[in-house]
Amino acid sequence: MARYIGPVCKQCRRENMKLFLKGERCYTDKCSFDRRPYPPGVHGQRRSKFTEYGVRLREKQKVRRIYGMVEKQFARYFTMADRQKGVTGQNLLNLLERRLDSAVYRLGLGATRSEARQLVRHKHLKVNGRTVNVPSFLLRPGDKITVRDRSKQLARIQTALEVAARREQPEWLEFDRDALTGTVKAMPNREAITLPIEEQMIVEFYSR
Ligand code: SF4
Repeated sequence: MARYIGPVCKQCRRENMKLFLKGERCYTDKCSFDRRPYPPGVHGQRRSKFTEYGVRLREKQKVRRIYGMVEKQFARYFTMADRQKGVTGQNLLNLLERRLDSAVYRLGLGATRSEARQLVRHKHLKVNGRTVNVPSFLLRPGDKITVRDRSKQLARIQTALEVAARREQPEWLEFDRDALTGTVKAMPNREAITLPIEEQMIVEFYSR
């Protein structure tokens, strides 16, 4: 699966906000965005004015980068959201949140979404008792996510849990920290996504 392998912190600087893509480092004074809160590149410190299109493009790019996807994948999610009943923007966020790697990150088992994705790819997790190594696996209410027994002591999972203590636990997920088990209580609603996202702009971007 294609993925972005360039400098991560540049993405936050480009989107003019902290996207929390580097785990622990994001909470320290080593954060690049805190040190250089302007876009990367030689003209980064110039004052830039966005067009209507530019504003929508930036919003789409921001969400795409938060969820660590390439354009083709992200556009596919938009198409799926558009085909569903209801509000397309909210459908899109719902689909993105229900991905297994995203839920693993939200539970705190991965310090970042990319780390959570790697945990899934490396078969450290089970859904309803069966090993699932597909990060895009879509969860449903009632699904149970567990860490494989021999992976429970992994240092990266323990570190991730410490980092995650600074984050808010979404209401649609229940987490038993002792058993390292998460349960999907409900479909994620719009309030579960606390990052400043204007999903309507993404809909407008793709509908232009
Ligand atoms: Fe973004 Fe984290 Fe890098 Fe800061 S440290 S710029 S929040 S990825």
